[in-house]
Amino acid sequence: MSNLAMEVLLMLGQTIEKVVPVTIALALIFSVLAHFWACNDAAPWWRKRELVTDIVYWFFVPVFARVIRIGLLVVGASLVFHINDADELIAFYDNGHGPLSQLPLWAQALLFVVLADFMLYWLHRLFHRELWKYHAVHHSSEELDWISAARFHPINLIIGTISVDVILLMAGISPNVMLWVGPFNIFHSAFVHANLNWTLGPFKYVLATPVFHRWHHTALEAGGNTNFAGTFPLWDILFGTFRMPENELPENYGKDEAAMPSEIVGQLVFPFRR
Ligand SMILES: [Zn+2]
Ligand SMILES: [Zn+2]
Repeated sequence: MSNLAMEVLLMLGQTIEKVVPVTIALALIFSVLAHFWACNDAAPWWRKRELVTDIVYWFFVPVFARVIRIGLLVVGASLVFHINDADELIAFYDNGHGPLSQLPLWAQALLFVVLADFMLYWLHRLFHRELWKYHAVHHSSEELDWISAARFHPINLIIGTISVDVILLMAGISPNVMLWVGPFNIFHSAFVHANLNWTLGPFKYVLATPVFHRWHHTALEAGGNTNFAGTFPLWDILFGTFRMPENELPENYGKDEAAMPSEIVGQLVFPFRR
């Protein structure tokens, strides 16, 4: 077996080792919360018809994202900064570089989350227009729940989250921010997809909530073309796409793409078959 294949296998093992305990914790948390505060009268997540599809994405996505992120960071350093030596490369990314890396780590983490969210807001809007066929996979969940959070087409991951991470790390922010940003993103993305009726009251303008993001997953007529922000609804408020009707909860998700296969292989080839 080649060295590269060996390394990818090793990474797969390490990632799964990390993902399993996190998944068990999220499953426990959201099962208990949904028991008391369900948004919709739906079957529990473990009885979802497309559970296997979501579980495969759940484990596939972190490994894929990690491999592609490292690959793009290496290519980016070579193309933009002409760094081709392995030791130089490690030193370059180790603690960030340039003025951004001089800020305290908490400030870098905050900057990372805010800048990433701003870029992702506009990319998300692009995915709802020109790049819809790739994003349709994410919107195909009819039984929306916390485990639906990882259902993304690889092209959506590359042009969305991964490219934004790479841009910010290349700009000099220290990869050490990931120690805080990573767990926050995993928990928060599971949270906004969870079957919960939480709006967080006045904080609905500050942080994306399950009701906020579940509105985004409804059909166009029900207000689906709104709430594009991942973390901060501020972008939707500023750019006129915020929607949180009073005394009303979203229901009926993912009906826009009737031809979408329910298993992962069909979903992966879906954008290329039209
Ligand atoms: Zn969307
Ligand atoms: Zn979503």
